[in-house]
Formats: sequence, structure tokens, C-alpha cells
Amino acid sequence: MARTDLFDLGGERLSAGEGRRLELEVAQEPLELAGVRYLVLPPTVPVTLEISRTTGGGYALRLRCSSTLRGPCMRCLEPAAPLVEVDAREVDLPGGGEELDSPYVQGDLLDLRSWVRDAVALAAPDQVLCDPACPGLCPVCAVSLASAGPEHRHESEPDPRWAKLRELDLS
Ligand SMILES: [Zn+2]
Ligand SMILES: [Zn+2]
Repeated sequence: MARTDLFDLGGERLSAGEGRRLELEVAQEPLELAGVRYLVLPPTVPVTLEISRTTGGGYALRLRCSSTLRGPCMRCLEPAAPLVEVDAREVDLPGGGEELDSPYVQGDLLDLRSWVRDAVALAAPDQVLCDPACPGLCPVCAVSLASAGPEHRHESEPDPRWAKLRELDLS
């Protein structure tokens, strides 16, 4: 299937009230989250685009796709690959004001690549984790606690104040 970055909505020749569902493929680019670069896979993602022609010559659009982020876990830095499910909608109605003026639609052209990129960024988790229960790093030695195992711990340094107390113990 050919990759679609810019989609010609006008080419569908829909009349008001008509709709169409299309399966397309869109190129994805890396995403920066909290200053870290994440790959967005697959490089070309299958998307489902639903187009409805509204009265007044506008469009109501729905976009669905599934992408996988790949990069370091934000807690332990081990590889993480969370799935990002996108289900986004846009409305573009000429003369409908700012809220009904989709930034991705110019005339009859839909900037599908930018919409997919932004929708994936919006649907991405706030925290990219290798596992929702990732225990993170040991605060003492910074080893990954998930790989070090539950028995990982450090002997706590004896508190000098306790030593003083022991000296005072007269029994
Ligand atoms: Zn982790
Ligand atoms: Zn440790």
C-alpha cells in the first residue's frame, strides 16, 4: 500500500451527509518526551481514516491507529515499548470559527502525517515505563531494582548516635 502523508479529501467527492472509511499508511517520526527521544514504530503505520462530509462544505474526521514507542524506561532506563492507541477526531467547517477550523485541513487537503504525529504525542503516556510496576533504581547504588531482585539491599551504616548511647548503657 502506498504511503499517504497528505490526503486529498476532495478526491473522495463526498456530498453532504456522506461518509467513507479508508485504510491508509502513514510515515511516523521519532518523538521527544521529557527531553528523551523515542522511536515510534512501525516506521509506516496502518491507519483507519473516517471522513464525513458536513453541510456547509466541511469535514468531520476520525483517525485510529496503534503505535509502539521504543526507548528507555523513565524510572530504570531499561528498554521500554509501551503501546499507544490513537482515536482522534477533527472537525473542519469553513467559517465555523477557530474551534471548527482543524489545523490539519487546508481547503480539501488533510495533513495526515502531522495529525498522526501529534495524536501519538497526545496519546503517549506521561511516564514511559518498562512495566507499570517498575520499581526504578536503588537510591543507594543506582542498580535497576527489577534486575537486581527483591533481595537487593544495603547494610545500613550504624548511626554514630547509637554508638554513643551504647557507651552510656550502664547495664
Ligand atoms: Zn523500568
Ligand atoms: Zn543498591
